[in-house]
Amino acid sequence: MNQKQFTVAVLGGDGIGPEVTTATVNVLKKIETNLSGVSFQFNEHLVGVGEYLRSGVALPDSTFAACQNSDAVLLGAMGIPSVRYPDGTEIAPQLELRERLQLFGGVRPIELFHPDDSPLKNYSTGEIDFVLVRESTEGLFSGRDATFAADATEATNVMRISQHGTERVCRLAFEVARKRNKRKHVTLIDKANVLSAMVFMREIFDEVAKEFPDCTSSHCYVDAAALFMVRDPKRFDVMVTENMFGDILSDLAAGLVGGMGMAPSGDIGVDAAVFQPSHGSAPDIAGQGIANPIATMLSAAMMLEWFAHDETIRAAALLRSAISKVLSNPSNRTPDMGGKLKTDQITRSVIDALQQG
Ligand code: ATP
Repeated sequence: MNQKQFTVAVLGGDGIGPEVTTATVNVLKKIETNLSGVSFQFNEHLVGVGEYLRSGVALPDSTFAACQNSDAVLLGAMGIPSVRYPDGTEIAPQLELRERLQLFGGVRPIELFHPDDSPLKNYSTGEIDFVLVRESTEGLFSGRDATFAADATEATNVMRISQHGTERVCRLAFEVARKRNKRKHVTLIDKANVLSAMVFMREIFDEVAKEFPDCTSSHCYVDAAALFMVRDPKRFDVMVTENMFGDILSDLAAGLVGGMGMAPSGDIGVDAAVFQPSHGSAPDIAGQGIANPIATMLSAAMMLEWFAHDETIRAAALLRSAISKVLSNPSNRTPDMGGKLKTDQITRSVIDALQQG
């Protein structure tokens, strides 16, 4: 049988980034031993604050080229508040990567693995289960460099909503809904009652919805969505939204299921994808061996699905089931979730669960 090798560029980055990617690569290496006809090649590359301090460049050309030439990128986290560019902004090569690889859709699945992990009452395992799709190349963040009035008493940021950008992210959201095959319902989260750019976004969403007759769709204002996510998260299947709304709502969503250490993400482009936890580099706990690697492992499961090979899809299911099994015991938690396990202990538990099948 032909052996298919998937090349993964591993960018550990800063803070807890290398800790969570190392844990995840160890788990993927274990899974690889269960697969037939498929192997992985993991190549680590320099990036982030460490590289900026060493060479003056946070995303070296060689690292970017490796990302372009790999089947996917597994990223930890980048940037630490104490190291900044001369203009005062943080080192954030992940944003450059997103822009240069045109990763337009941030796919963020939210799943409750154990009732104890949610601050919400009366939700059992699997009852909070939705996906937030965030437009990642335009919206309010595309105008992040403010325009200042001549007398410097006013600053303006612009929200850019394009037909092309909206069509592609809405199509991605419907495709996610189709693939999940649950309620196949997509909700556009907007502010069309106030912002005319969002009326435009709504019109485009409604047109795209017609391309997916097997799915249903609806709209919800962003303020109401924040309320419903807390009061009645079961109403959502797939949500799609503008860049900054997505940024804010994804932290709220992560809070419903245990926090940032439980929130995976996949940044999807036309022919590139970066998989990373939704959290940052958490410098306050870096180097202590207590980072929660679950979000990164769940991101790796998304990566395996994205490879769209029968064996990697099976591998993703094996990984999710091992994580589920480990988390079904509420004492299997790292300190961010009130537990006592260290990163390597919870990683060992996932590897053991994979071994037991
Ligand atoms: P960013 O702006 O890049 O999202 P941030 O510093 O605002 O980053 P995070 O680093 O995402 O925020 O996380 C905030 C805090 O949550 C961290 O300082 C850390 O205490 C905790 N945290 C985040 N991720 C993890 C994790 N994987 N394991 C344990 N604790 C975490």
